[in-house]
Amino acid sequence: MRCRTMSVRRWIQDHPRPLEWAYRVAEKLFSVLDPLLARVGYDRVDRLIRPFERWSKGPLFGCRMCGQCVLRKTGMTCPMTCPKQLRNGPCGGVRPGGYCEVYADRRCIWTEAFERSQHMRIYGERILDVQPPVDWTLQGQSAWVNMLRHELPALRTVDRGHA
Ligand code: SF4
Repeated sequence: MRCRTMSVRRWIQDHPRPLEWAYRVAEKLFSVLDPLLARVGYDRVDRLIRPFERWSKGPLFGCRMCGQCVLRKTGMTCPMTCPKQLRNGPCGGVRPGGYCEVYADRRCIWTEAFERSQHMRIYGERILDVQPPVDWTLQGQSAWVNMLRHELPALRTVDRGHA
């Protein structure tokens, strides 16, 4: 059963276009709902939404609930599943064929992230972004709510600057 789940997960991740489309839709939806969610209170929304985020992203991406999701910038491949939890990869130890230095029988997740990003039309180039270090104080929180709290206000500031 676990094997079947893994192969379904792999198949979905290896075809990332629908995922990035779904991400785009969710991003817009959250953006529209943001004023309402802010009124309800981000902490309250976080508590409500967290189980759903864990339930949906856990089986699909191996999500570790780091609270600061970068999936769209990493070929829809969770960097926290790297044995070294590298936020910017790959490390210098990738084996021939793109295999992991730590687990020689597994492919390096950063090799897979790069390959998948090449199939992504919207966010594919974001694989070149340099990611900030993990903020461990956010671990366990909803990354969706944290996007509203931290990323959206910054994006709006940039948009206003260009207006
Ligand atoms: S980057 Fe963080 S929030 Fe996104 S899937 Fe990985 S552990 Fe989960």
